Order: sequence, then C-alpha cells, then structure tokens
Amino acid sequence: MTTTERPLMVEARGIRKRFGFHEVLKGIDLQVRTGEVLCLIGPSGSGKSTFLRCINHLERADGGELRVDGELVGYREKGGKLYELREKDIAARRRTIGMVFQRFNLFPHLTALENVMEAPVRVLRTPRAQAATEARELLTRVGLAGKYDAYPATLSGGQQQRVAIARALAMRPRLMLFDEPTSALDPELVGEVLDVMRQLAADGMTMVVVTHEMGFAREVGDTLVFMDDGVVVEAGDPREVLGNPQHERTRSFLSKVL
Ligand code: ADP
Ligand code: MG
Repeated sequence: MTTTERPLMVEARGIRKRFGFHEVLKGIDLQVRTGEVLCLIGPSGSGKSTFLRCINHLERADGGELRVDGELVGYREKGGKLYELREKDIAARRRTIGMVFQRFNLFPHLTALENVMEAPVRVLRTPRAQAATEARELLTRVGLAGKYDAYPATLSGGQQQRVAIARALAMRPRLMLFDEPTSALDPELVGEVLDVMRQLAADGMTMVVVTHEMGFAREVGDTLVFMDDGVVVEAGDPREVLGNPQHERTRSFLSKVL
C-alpha cells in the first residue's frame, strides 16, 4: 500500500476551541494516516496541547469535525446542536489511544513492572501473570530489562519516561500521542527517549508528536505541522518545512529554536 492509500487515523477539519473569550484553536485542518508520524511544532500557547487533548477526548472541540480511527469525536455544531458520545464510549475509545506527557506521572508506589501492568489488569482484566509477561516484554523493548522492580524515584527522568511509554503501549493503542515528551529531561537523557520513539515509528506505530526536537522531526516525521496562534501556518514534508519555510512566522519561529 502506498502512503496515500492508507486509512486516515486522524482527520481534523476546521477544529475550533475556545476557553471563555479566548479562541485557542481557530480552525485546524490536518490528517494523519495509519503508520505515519506527524510532528507538531509551534510557540508556547499556540494550541498544540489543546489539539492533542481534543484527539484524546480530554477536551471537546466547539466546532469542526474530528475523526479518530474513522469515528467521530464528540463536538458541538455551529447551530449549537450537540453531538456527544456517552462516557462509556469515550472511555472505550480513549483506551485505543496512548498518551505520553512532559511529566511522566508514574505511580510512585508501584515498581516499573507494576506501573506497566496496572491498566491492563484493572481496565482490560488481563490475568496478572499474562500482564506481567507482557509488561516485561515492553520494558525490554524500551531498554529497561534490568529495571522491572525499580521504583520511579530510583530511575532517571529518561528511564521514567521510557516506563511511561511502555505503560501506554501496554494498552495496545492504535495511536500514540506525545506532548513534549523530552522537554522536562536533562539534555543527556533526551536521546534515549527519542531512540525509543524512533523504534516505535519504525515498527509502524501511528504517532502525533508535539516536540521541539527538530532533528527527530526531520528524520522520523512524515509530516511536520507548524502551528501558531491556533492555526496551521504551514505543513508538509519536514525537510521542506525546515529547509525552506514558506511563511515568515515559520521562519521566525525556526530561527529561535534551530
Ligand atoms: P501549547 O501546547 O501550544 O503551548 P496550549 O494548547 O496548552 O498551547 O494552550 C493554548 C492556549 O489555551 C494558552 O493560552 C492557554 O493558556 C489556553 N488554555 C489551555 N487550556 C486551558 C483551559 N483549560 N482553560 C483556559 N485556558 C486554557
Ligand atoms: Mg503544550
């Protein structure tokens, strides 16, 4: 299958979101195909996290149409007509989406292995022995084979973030969202997390990654989207956008981060 034939995993058309008088998303259009990596860049406050949260049903858009994995995410139509999913359906859909945040938010009283097992056991009712086997495999995959029994406080930030990635993968997501996953890390720990994400992309995971790591975006991203002030200013092949930005706002932003 060529890339353009792959089904759309995320399809956003004219997504709008306001908080009070502040319109944070002013009509976002973008697409992510299955197996693709979309990197999202832009200044602080441009609406990147809000958009990710809409994909993951943590915020509801005020307008536009958002489909994830072919299914409509709840939204409010122009005329005020409300299309809403039931809580139960939202929970079911959210389970198919993994999310990794800047702060790792591991359970401090659980070991790395227990952190990864927690959701499969509690939510999916996976038998403990099976969940433990799968959790060991996942921790091995993120390079933490020796750390099954370590508590988060004894792990470096990079190791904790890799546990967080394994924990998200334990739910067998169809889509992974990363919101600045390396921004809280010491510089020397960034690489190990990006390596895990790079491997995940190579394994075919569909990913939306908010990041300031332009090297990662260039090498791993299929598409790079530059957002500013609630709009998509520019989108395209990362090498094109980074090498030959078409808009002054993109040039100005890149000159600050590159
Ligand atoms: P980014 O991730 O690009 O830095 P955000 O999506 O976090 O941007 O935020 C975009 C804007 O929306 C910011 O001005 C932020 O203060 C505002 N915002 C985000 N969440 C809320 C909220 N729950 N209530 C009010 N304002 C919010
Ligand atoms: Mg953000």
